[in-house]
Amino acid sequence: MSSTINGGISFWYADHGTPAPREPLPGDESADVCIVGGGYTGLWTAYYLKKAAPFLRITVLEQKFCGYGASGRNGGWLYNGIAGRDRYARLHGREAAVRLQEAMNETVTEVIETAKAEGIDADIHHGGVLEVAYTPAQLARLKEFHATELAYGEKDRTLHGARETADRIRVAGAVGSTWTPHGARLHPVKLVKGLAAAVEALGVTIHESTPVTEIKPKHAITPYGTVRAPYILRCTEGFTASLKGQRRTWLPMNSSMIATEPLSDTQWESIGWEGRETLGDMAHAYMYAQRTADGRITLGGRGVPYRYGSKTDNDGRTQPATIEALHEILTRFFPQLAGVEIAHAWSGVLGVPRDWCATVTLDRATGLGWAGGYVGSGVATANLAARTLRDLVQQDSGQAGTTDLTTLPWVNHKVRKWEPEPFRWLGVQGMYATYRNADRQELTTPTTQAPRLARIANRLSGRH
Ligand SMILES: Cc1cc2nc3c(=O)[nH]c(=O)nc-3n(C[C@H](O)[C@H](O)[C@H](O)COP(=O)(O)OP(=O)(O)OC[C@H]3O[C@@H](n4cnc5c(N)ncnc54)[C@H](O)[C@@H]3O)c2cc1C
Repeated sequence: MSSTINGGISFWYADHGTPAPREPLPGDESADVCIVGGGYTGLWTAYYLKKAAPFLRITVLEQKFCGYGASGRNGGWLYNGIAGRDRYARLHGREAAVRLQEAMNETVTEVIETAKAEGIDADIHHGGVLEVAYTPAQLARLKEFHATELAYGEKDRTLHGARETADRIRVAGAVGSTWTPHGARLHPVKLVKGLAAAVEALGVTIHESTPVTEIKPKHAITPYGTVRAPYILRCTEGFTASLKGQRRTWLPMNSSMIATEPLSDTQWESIGWEGRETLGDMAHAYMYAQRTADGRITLGGRGVPYRYGSKTDNDGRTQPATIEALHEILTRFFPQLAGVEIAHAWSGVLGVPRDWCATVTLDRATGLGWAGGYVGSGVATANLAARTLRDLVQQDSGQAGTTDLTTLPWVNHKVRKWEPEPFRWLGVQGMYATYRNADRQELTTPTTQAPRLARIANRLSGRH
């Protein structure tokens, strides 16, 4: 794998080019709304606010360039999963959590239709999500997961045995799968670049190469000046820890990916995957993959989960051992791809709150808002969060009342901070070591029960 490009932000940028830089903040400015972070959350928020109230002066401040973070590096699963739904059901009742799920189902369609309306060609293919099991324990979890999703109102989800799964995609050893139509494959960078351009065309100001060092009520402070605004919205996800006072708010969790060279027609015939569903599994340290528009497979997984002290980024460089591990998953799924070159490997950070629940908040007393903590499911969730932030700002400023979105159970959810180091680091390392062991054990021991330690790790980490 010596020819593998490592880092360079992500394969998606190698494929589609980095954008022309926008000017940094030239000095002190004022705005009606200041958004910190130019990923999907920040850009969708700017988009929906400006559409709803064109007179608003909106400024986006981005430390590097729009799409530098997870929004320019992800697996391109636009799907209806949302972190924390089950906990929200426990806290607010089942009906509230079902409403949240329904809002997520609609969000997948909302992104597809809005991208189309804005002329953003992001290689979107609405093929749904297919999740496979290849051990008895995974199959047991898959069936349980399938039943849970049906209970949350997904009437159109289907369960497949080994033969039907192979009709869709030939994953070695697959014993079953579950499919939902509420998902689509996309090219992350095409979406984020198109979105930034659409937002700018609406009249939103974007300043790049402008790191915000501190957020205070009505102030976003940068080395080049301060933006003063009644509303300051923090949309910094996995990078949040770098802001003053936020070190233990959301843990920056790494996710790493590889992209193969384009496969040949013969290789594709041997795999199937004509539906271009996004593909996942039921392992504890799960994988996620897509068939790209230009005929590659991109595949992601956890790798080194967390860097001591909430460190985040070196432009996507990933450890050789992680590339090896992802390659191993690729060839376990598709043994015929053993000799295929890995064109690119990269990683990025996502934001994990202490209780693993995504949130969207506007503090009416200070005008400070934030959205994120999506864990690994932010491509669609960021859009729902953005429309919710729009409604919260409009409600607070007297331009609108309560809406269906402002009453969803993830709004204004509070959670405690992560433990200080070294406990944070030890906890995450321990949890993922346990998951990896559990996955290995499940591959070699034909049991339908997840190993006990994995269940304990879930409970201790706050994940379930
Ligand atoms: C490798 C990987 C694969 C993933 N795959 C999927 C997937 O397939 N499906 C899915 O649903 N989710 C996936 N996710 C998660 C998803 O990509 C994110 O949840 C989503 O992109 C979050 O968008 P965001 O705008 O909130 O954060 P980001 O995209 O991270 O944007 C935050 C932005 O804020 C900027 N910023 C940060 N701090 C500051 C500051 N102090 N001042 C100014 N700017 C700042 C950053 O530079 C960045 O551009 C994946 C994540 C990773 C890392």
